[in-house]
Amino acid sequence: MDEIIRALPEKAKDKHKENKKFFSVLRKKPPKDLDSRMQEIHEEEFSRTNCLTCANCCKTTGPLFTHKDIERIAKHFRMKPGKFIEEFLRVDEDNDNVLQEVPCTFLGADNYCSIYEVRPKACREYPHTDRRDFHKIANLTLKNTAICPAVYNIVEEMKVKLK
Ligand code: SF4
Ligand code: SF4
Repeated sequence: MDEIIRALPEKAKDKHKENKKFFSVLRKKPPKDLDSRMQEIHEEEFSRTNCLTCANCCKTTGPLFTHKDIERIAKHFRMKPGKFIEEFLRVDEDNDNVLQEVPCTFLGADNYCSIYEVRPKACREYPHTDRRDFHKIANLTLKNTAICPAVYNIVEEMKVKLK
């Protein structure tokens, strides 16, 4: 997996133009059954990909923390939300609460998330390839092809199955 992750930014760069064009067509005329077909492609990919051998999302791009996330995780640590923010988070240029540093503080050396049960909503939903109206997050997905090997493969599969 390490080699795949290392090669990913370059591979994503090579495909960027082609992928951008594909999503621009998809956005204009999405198939009526896009949600169910994406679900299928997503499940197929994640039946092959084991995130525990990767964790590249946790290592390179932290999630944003909503107020509900902060309250839930702070409670888990028996901390006041303010103290949790002070210790682990910072406000980014979009005014979102994000991690002070990556790799994520809560990621273990074995790639397990130490707060898995209470992890942020953004972590639960990443890489968003099974969400409804997937074509509406084209820019984020293009960015994720360079970070997540599963997203790279899913976009390749989409180009074959949804053309
Ligand atoms: S979601 Fe993608 S980047 Fe994150 S661990 Fe799984 S395969 Fe790797
Ligand atoms: S909270 Fe857990 S799932 Fe989310 S980035 Fe950190 S280690 Fe990964």
